[in-house]
Amino acid sequence: KKKIAVMTSGGDSPGMTAVVRAVVRTAIHMGCDAYCVYEGYEGLVQGGDFIRQMEWHDVRGWLSEGGTLIGTARCMAFFERAGRLTAAKNMILNGIHALIICGGDGSLTGADKFRSEWPSLVDELVANGELTKDQVAPFTHLNIVGLVGSIDNDLSGTDATIGCYSALARICEMVDYIEATASSHSRAFVIEVMGRHCGWLALMAGVATGADFIFIPERPQDQDWKADMSTVVRRHRKMGKRKTIVIVAEGARDRDGTKITPTEIKDLLADKSEGGLALDTRITTLGHVQRGGTAVAYDRMLGTLQGVEAVKAVLEATPETETCFIAINENKIVRKPLMKAVQESKALAKAVDDKDFDMAMQLRDTEFAD
Ligand code: ATP
Repeated sequence: KKKIAVMTSGGDSPGMTAVVRAVVRTAIHMGCDAYCVYEGYEGLVQGGDFIRQMEWHDVRGWLSEGGTLIGTARCMAFFERAGRLTAAKNMILNGIHALIICGGDGSLTGADKFRSEWPSLVDELVANGELTKDQVAPFTHLNIVGLVGSIDNDLSGTDATIGCYSALARICEMVDYIEATASSHSRAFVIEVMGRHCGWLALMAGVATGADFIFIPERPQDQDWKADMSTVVRRHRKMGKRKTIVIVAEGARDRDGTKITPTEIKDLLADKSEGGLALDTRITTLGHVQRGGTAVAYDRMLGTLQGVEAVKAVLEATPETETCFIAINENKIVRKPLMKAVQESKALAKAVDDKDFDMAMQLRDTEFAD
């Protein structure tokens, strides 16, 4: 019987638990034994109770849960070969043939490294006497498949990552709450959202809530962003708008690469000197509420369909096939080369077309036209 393990790694995201449920049940359905590795790579390195066999009923009720019920962690040891060597030993001792990892680009890079090193790790375990030749014989290669769990939607090659629509929904809900009080008091709010490298959440939240101004990492502001923003906000106020909402991603920068902070934006909006906007301005940092709560329908669906596909892919993989991850492209669940997507994600920020950005910003202006 094949033994397939699933783990969640890196930052948690809603829908990861749907993935675990889908992988466990699909593996059992396909005649395999299903395992969960708790606490990401840390669990793989620790072994013992961190690696547990799962039955069908163990994942009952997991579909709608937020976060991940098998834990996730950042694991320093896995960056080192010695940590990966111990991880390989624990996998072999548990008889695990294949590993499905749901995480961000770091976790998936680590997984690919683990797979490519696997034969040499096995040789080393035999050479140093930790395992016998007979013990390692059924484990000549390791099959892995990645699933992208991330609220940032920051991996190239897939339309959406598992969790991004839940985070977006939560942000929009919070902005709606803030808008009510902003309008009542005619206030301005600077809302900081997650996204150190990828502004998808900030941009889409801005589009979905009709924010007055958005700062994202992929679109560094001109040096005179202060003048630009002031002009826009002033125009909206003249049109009779009683609220001002500025959304800023954590990684927002100007063209020099200098960070644009919520405090700087607030100071500008609140500036009482001559010609200043003099708005009563507050900063709201949404923080971890963006990750929390149950998964929206899209993430449950994506986690489930991709979890099913991941089990099929890991069973069909051979030593010759390239490591793949499961993507969604034009509403189809597909397999894609993993490392190509990781490299492209580093080189190019995802899916923020300048024309789309400009159009979205114009819609905000026409809100009060005619
Ligand atoms: P997020 O998008 O939330 O940051 P991530 O998966 O990119 O998720 P990381 O912290 O980068 O999160 O990685 C999670 C874990 O994956 C690390 O703690 C480490 O154990 C492992 N890992 C990441 N990069 C590598 C690498 N290059 N080599 C080996 N292991 C790695």
